[in-house]
Amino acid sequence: MYEAILEKASEGRGIGREEIEKLLSIDDPDTLSSLFETAHSIKRKSFGDRVFTYGFVYFSTYCRNNCSFCYYRKSNGIERYRKSADEIVMLSGDLQDNGVNLVDLTMGEDNVMHNDNCRELVDIIGKVNSAVSIPIMLSPGAAKESVFPLFRDSGADWFACYQETHNRDLFSKRRIGQDYDHRYSQRDWARKYGMLAEDGIMVGIGETTGDVADSIVKMGSQGCEQIRVMTFVPQEGTPMSASLRKNREDELKVIAVMRLAHPDRLIPASLDVEGIEGLVPRIRAGANIVTSIVPPHMELAGVANKDLDIENGMRSIDHVIDVLETEGCVVGSNSDYSSLLRRMRAI
Ligand code: SF4
Repeated sequence: MYEAILEKASEGRGIGREEIEKLLSIDDPDTLSSLFETAHSIKRKSFGDRVFTYGFVYFSTYCRNNCSFCYYRKSNGIERYRKSADEIVMLSGDLQDNGVNLVDLTMGEDNVMHNDNCRELVDIIGKVNSAVSIPIMLSPGAAKESVFPLFRDSGADWFACYQETHNRDLFSKRRIGQDYDHRYSQRDWARKYGMLAEDGIMVGIGETTGDVADSIVKMGSQGCEQIRVMTFVPQEGTPMSASLRKNREDELKVIAVMRLAHPDRLIPASLDVEGIEGLVPRIRAGANIVTSIVPPHMELAGVANKDLDIENGMRSIDHVIDVLETEGCVVGSNSDYSSLLRRMRAI
């Protein structure tokens, strides 16, 4: 049964919702290996051996929301920081000098940045855009539609906003007090106003296999050029602090099934969940982007793990390149990445 679905995907015939759910239920180790091999080979057909790298600037850890899974939720009494525009420009320039293909400007849903039609945020994007020549991804949480043209005009190429689940009931339990449709519209608005869009889900937050299959279908049908999955990591001081952490197999399986269902999308391997240790398995499962590269000594946090592998330099670009090269990957150049984005915009 599984072999026929893997063959169908390999031949580029496309797989549907039921087949996606069947693949997500694989637990036999040999069949799982076949799934990963198929995903890896489909990725090579679509993108060759090229892998692209994204640098991460988590510039404000303030947030007005209370997502039940998140360390940075408003009611968690943690120390927070908000970097100045000059610091963000300097950090972005350093990332470009280090050789990443994109700078990801990420923040909690910080009122200071969202007030006044995102005036301060738009100013920061413009300053970063003047200082670097690599593409910019913006991950600011949910914004109103009227500011999307401002994001694009100030220089944002990508807009990332993760739904985390496409099950409305589960969404209301995890993204407490937030509007499902408003968040879903973020990617539609990004694409409507000329940006590329990323969606993502989390595994281990109470979802069923059917929910994950629905998400894989919906992320594809919304047209997001980049789609991701990350494993929930229990966070101190949150309502889910005592929840069990899933093992990595679930995330790897979802990466592989996303690759089979959506061969032409960019799929990240995030360093934020398991650090550098988790990079190779994710690449072998079908990922072709490395995200959350954070150079040491910049006093920046991660999202799922606030300090994993940052200060020891294991999330630096040099170390990531070493690991990728041992896997036979080619680290894509900036001109390769720009050509890829041009092709994606043209579709
Ligand atoms: S996931 Fe994002 S929006 Fe939710 S609490 Fe954390 S930083 Fe805020």
